[in-house]
Amino acid sequence: MKKAERQKDKEIRPGMQVEFICPKCGTHLAWALPDMEMNCPKCGNWVTNENRKKPKLDLMLPTDDDQLTLF
Ligand SMILES: [Zn+2]
Repeated sequence: MKKAERQKDKEIRPGMQVEFICPKCGTHLAWALPDMEMNCPKCGNWVTNENRKKPKLDLMLPTDDDQLTLF
């Protein structure tokens, strides 16, 4: 089945950004590289790639995505 193969392919590729969401309060912090750490301004929790709350659809963006600058 091709679907099963695709799910295995969930490794984070270099140069891709993930969305950091605080696991405590659910605040969306920012898009950043997975090796970043962020301090949640609301609850002071440190959010890393390991503990970040992952949305159902865990999107990744390339770092050179121009859409990011539109915010
Ligand atoms: Zn928080």
